[in-house]
Amino acid sequence: MSMKIWLNDKLVDQADATVSVFDHGLLYGDGIFEGIRVYSGKVFEHKAHIDRLYEGARAIRLNIPMTPEQMTEIVCKTVAANNIEDGYVRLIVTRGVGNLGLNPLTCETPQIIVIAATITLYPEELYQKGLKIISANTVRNHPLSIPPQVKSLNYLCNIMAKLEALDRGMFEAIMYNHMGYVAEATGDNVFIVKDGVLYTPPIAAGALDGITRRVVMRLAREAGYEVFEKNLARFDLHSCDEMFLTGSAAEVIGVSELDGRTIGIGKPGKITCDLRARFDKFIRQ
Ligand code: PMP
Repeated sequence: MSMKIWLNDKLVDQADATVSVFDHGLLYGDGIFEGIRVYSGKVFEHKAHIDRLYEGARAIRLNIPMTPEQMTEIVCKTVAANNIEDGYVRLIVTRGVGNLGLNPLTCETPQIIVIAATITLYPEELYQKGLKIISANTVRNHPLSIPPQVKSLNYLCNIMAKLEALDRGMFEAIMYNHMGYVAEATGDNVFIVKDGVLYTPPIAAGALDGITRRVVMRLAREAGYEVFEKNLARFDLHSCDEMFLTGSAAEVIGVSELDGRTIGIGKPGKITCDLRARFDKFIRQ
């Protein structure tokens, strides 16, 4: 069945959902995006995603030609038009069509694209066993460059780090910032557990302010765990009791090995499993 895609001001058939080769999103990665889950027909943490999109737009001086309320509505419309009960929404705003030069002022109207589709998750087995991951050599982009809080269409650093992992037959890699502190994984935030306490790098360490991260921190605190945002070094990861990643696609997934070192008991630990269960319950309510 062909999908309906939201393109600027209307739903169009997938075959007609095409963009210009002069779009600066394509030419320069000039734009921003969101990846949002749909659970039981409901857009998960919808407002948080829309807010993050608009904050990113402001940071890169892109005026989205639509109010956040209208944006919220077109996401719902696209989800409904494709009968998505459980799935994934990709929301993209590019600088739009301009000329071949860098100058973004040549772009007249930002282009808005909403895709509502199904999603392929990590196989269940990996949630049971935990992910084996590595530390990437590719450094997370400097916060004074494009702030990692901006979910921009420039994902090359993350892609290079992802390739480092894939080269070793793994799916994820930890990225460090220019100071050597842990930033995040290539498409997920990272948490560790040490002596029953949860730690995650502060956003200022070079992480995306992940919506799943926020939800997990809240659920953990409600469950009585202490959660601290703290700069973490590679040693902290190598010597922790548990490690897990969070993201819209992965949800909460345990890590069993980092850089050839077994993490904790070599499979998702007790607190990781508890938080995964709490997250599961939260998305189903
Ligand atoms: N970090 C990066 C670099 C990401 O791209 C993502 C989203 N895939 C995340 C973290 C997780 O963020 P969220 O929980 O909002 O999906």
